[in-house]
Amino acid sequence: MSSYFKTFTAGVEQRNPHQPEFIQAVKEVVEDIIPYIEEHAKELIDQKLLERISEPERVISFRVTWLDDKNRVQVNRGYRVQMNSALGPYKGGLRFSPTVNLSILKFLAFEQIFKNSLTGLPLGGGKGGSDFDPKGKSDNEIMRFCQSFMTELFRHIGSETDVPAGDIGVGEREIGFLFGQYKRLQNNFTGVLTGKGPSWGGSYIRPEATGFGLLYFVERMFYENQNSLKGKVITISGAGNVAYYAAIKALSLGAKVITVSNSNGTIYDENGFTVEKLDYVNSLNRNLAEYTKRYPAEYHEGKKPWGFKCDIALPCATQNELDEQDAKTLIANGCMCIAEGANMPSTAEAIKVILKAKILYAPGKAANAGGVAVSGLEMSQNRIGQQWSTDKVDARLKKIMHDIHDTCVHYGKDSNGVINYLKGANIGGFVKVADAMRAQGVV
Ligand code: GLU
Repeated sequence: MSSYFKTFTAGVEQRNPHQPEFIQAVKEVVEDIIPYIEEHAKELIDQKLLERISEPERVISFRVTWLDDKNRVQVNRGYRVQMNSALGPYKGGLRFSPTVNLSILKFLAFEQIFKNSLTGLPLGGGKGGSDFDPKGKSDNEIMRFCQSFMTELFRHIGSETDVPAGDIGVGEREIGFLFGQYKRLQNNFTGVLTGKGPSWGGSYIRPEATGFGLLYFVERMFYENQNSLKGKVITISGAGNVAYYAAIKALSLGAKVITVSNSNGTIYDENGFTVEKLDYVNSLNRNLAEYTKRYPAEYHEGKKPWGFKCDIALPCATQNELDEQDAKTLIANGCMCIAEGANMPSTAEAIKVILKAKILYAPGKAANAGGVAVSGLEMSQNRIGQQWSTDKVDARLKKIMHDIHDTCVHYGKDSNGVINYLKGANIGGFVKVADAMRAQGVV
């Protein structure tokens, strides 16, 4: 590695102590970008472009006070990381989870810059959320929390400034409460949030978008390699929105899905899930062990899905859920493709193992961009005051995922024809942002 790489990463580590996830995300990107700019765009080094892109334009941190159902005062911390606005308004989800901290949100906001750039839509990068735990809370508690959260956030966002959406712990219900409060405070019905319900400004296909998009990407990867998804065995982690719609689309493309999971354990159904079975998983409200009472299957308490033999692994749960040993096990069992529905689910060590084995690897910033892409389409529909049909949005999503795939191939294919999708996504996402930042001067 070059001396610039060493000084740059040392600077990031020094400026961001105690933020391991953020440092991990920055390193993962600059390992590909620094060799690229040293060869093609040396002037970016003097322009301190990487120092600028890895420093949020603005970080907002605020107190969220609310009353629970027993009228006890509760205090949480809220954040919005406005990372980069070179390509458009800050755009990215809100995550409500006790695991949320500034390191996690800065890593997610940083990834979002490149992901959003890859979609080809005019979207900057941002992320936000709170350490609030929605699990076990009543609808009224969720509503009071969301209203209090928005009572501070509303002054920092806007349909042309910063447009939050959902992420882990934030779905249509939460977006509804947040939107209602924003509208009340601003007296303005505007596309300030995406992931809205289809009857009040939302886009069709938004709930499905990340999972469907993941499968459109994987389908294209297999096509590129003269292969198809027909008959392929797939392990999926997670049991939320992304995992559910990824599984649904995988089934419709002729694959067999044998696992879903949550942080407590994994369901292994060797006969494969059906739509009916997946709907049943959805109804279990995290109690996955119940599944085996209705269907012949195994529930593995405390286990991740990566020990089960598969052709394709789709981590769709959370960051760093697939480690070095998991990667080795998957590869030893003949897995030919790992595609990320979650954000940064593979550890840095796992990625090294995967790249060395030269199996197909789709990083989240490319493969899970479908969610934010349809959010971008929701913003377009809001601006013109229209709602596009399901078919139209789905067709546009598919085209965007295929284009992202092709961008990764363009920037990631080496002289032997081997495609490094991670490198392709990093460079492909970067060049557009770098051009825009350069054009907009030293800001
Ligand atoms: N949270 C999603 C992501 O990680 C979607 C963000 C959005 O729609 O703005 O990309």
